[in-house]
Amino acid sequence: MTSKAMTMDAATSARLHNQLVKLGDMMGDGLHHEPGGKWIVTEYRRTMRALGHSLPRCNNGDAINRAMAERLKTMSCPKCGGALKQTRSGSKRAKCGSCAALFQFVRKAKGRAQA
Ligand SMILES: [Zn+2]
Repeated sequence: MTSKAMTMDAATSARLHNQLVKLGDMMGDGLHHEPGGKWIVTEYRRTMRALGHSLPRCNNGDAINRAMAERLKTMSCPKCGGALKQTRSGSKRAKCGSCAALFQFVRKAKGRAQA
């Protein structure tokens, strides 16, 4: 037996990075706060450690911002058709620039906003 498990090949590293992004997106959607969603945090930590990163502080604003930006790209205000904008960095709420309606993005459902 060799100690090959200690070194990480490029494929493994890429796979872990991929997984990290996916998990980060899920956390950006708040899935880890839902019942049974704890594994996401556990898996995220494990992946971070496997990649040799130190754990981030309890701040996934980047993931939220990315998820929000993605979603707002494809959405307009259901009430007036105006453009929606994230209320502030790290927020999961968006506001309509025209009628000022506020929308809360809670879960992954594509293209659906909850007023
Ligand atoms: Zn509007």
